[in-house]
Amino acid sequence: MALDYDEIVRKYEKYIFNTYTRQPIAIKKASGAVVTDVNGKEYVDCVAGIAVNNVGHCHPTVVDAIKRQAGQLIHVSNLYYMENQAVLAEELASLTGMDRVFFCNSGAEAVEGALKLARKASGKKEFIATENAFHGRTRGALSVTHKEKYRKPFEPLAPAVFVPYNDADAIRKAINENTAGVILEPIQGEGGVIIPSGDFLKEVREMCDETGTLLILDEVQTGFGRTGKWFAKEHSGIKPDIMTTAKAMGGGFPMGAMLAREEVAANFGRGDHASTFGGNALACAAALANIEVIKKEGLVKRSEELGNYLVKKLKSLNKDYVKDVRGKGLMVGMELSTRCEDIVNRARERGVLLNCTSESVLRFVPPLTITKEQLDKAVSVLDEI
Ligand SMILES: *Cc1c(COP(=O)(O)O)cnc(C)c1O
Repeated sequence: MALDYDEIVRKYEKYIFNTYTRQPIAIKKASGAVVTDVNGKEYVDCVAGIAVNNVGHCHPTVVDAIKRQAGQLIHVSNLYYMENQAVLAEELASLTGMDRVFFCNSGAEAVEGALKLARKASGKKEFIATENAFHGRTRGALSVTHKEKYRKPFEPLAPAVFVPYNDADAIRKAINENTAGVILEPIQGEGGVIIPSGDFLKEVREMCDETGTLLILDEVQTGFGRTGKWFAKEHSGIKPDIMTTAKAMGGGFPMGAMLAREEVAANFGRGDHASTFGGNALACAAALANIEVIKKEGLVKRSEELGNYLVKKLKSLNKDYVKDVRGKGLMVGMELSTRCEDIVNRARERGVLLNCTSESVLRFVPPLTITKEQLDKAVSVLDEI
């Protein structure tokens, strides 16, 4: 089976839901920070499956772990105990400082779990979220996702109020007797790489403590070294009551997790939540190998260093087009004075994959293993364009 690009696209057009805007290339394979299409053309990947392939594509340690596990045990459900799920849970508790973990398969599913837990723990129904927040597309997650276009056709959703990001006073004013929790990204991703200013997260933590409100941090995109820390919450030193993570968790293998402090987690008993595939043997093997690679290769530190390098290089580009460059680690946004779609197309033609979010923000979330030379290539292509 070796379909060419046109044959592949024809099948998509006939058989697959039209829910995505796809770039006009078909990817065949990938290694490290390089992706190869069906015509053999290579691209430097500054997208990494949207902040997923933090350890690089097809990292040999992850590939070996998946191969080995696949030959031994793929899936048995959560009706039984499994060694690698136990070991992974302990590892995650130690990396996040949280007490308990619920395993699932995606970011939206982790957010669903977090919202359900907050409702059960608080006995209340309403959430406070932020403008430009993105928490996923399932109905609970969508209820705290801000974009009108995503929400409108599916209303009524669960009750939520939106306040500006970086406005602690607005959150204070919005908290009332119906508030189940406040949900925040420690750095907004889809919203355009928006960094919390000053003591914003600390202030939110304090007012949640004062009012007895649960704080949920959505680290689906910011986890596993992406921002130059294991988790972005470390930049502000706060501990949430509930947190979510997913994207980079399994080294490319689909996996998510919802974590909570002991007192909050205690509100979920048998039968309160479940997921058939959550934390299955194959996913846990991938996640354990992924964590091992991040540690062994010092990728958290590398993310910080290369992120600083990239920001500096991007700041040196033509000021007429660049409104702002901001980031933490290798989660970098370059806000342009124009829409960025056309730039993404022209970069791809020159062998660099970029992602555009919020219409005018080029988002760089490459593998943390990317080399300086590969980043230089991306920047020089942008300069050329
Ligand atoms: C991507 C993302 C999600 C949704 O994750 P899926 O795996 O696509 O469901 C939720 N929250 C944040 C912050 C994300 O970046």
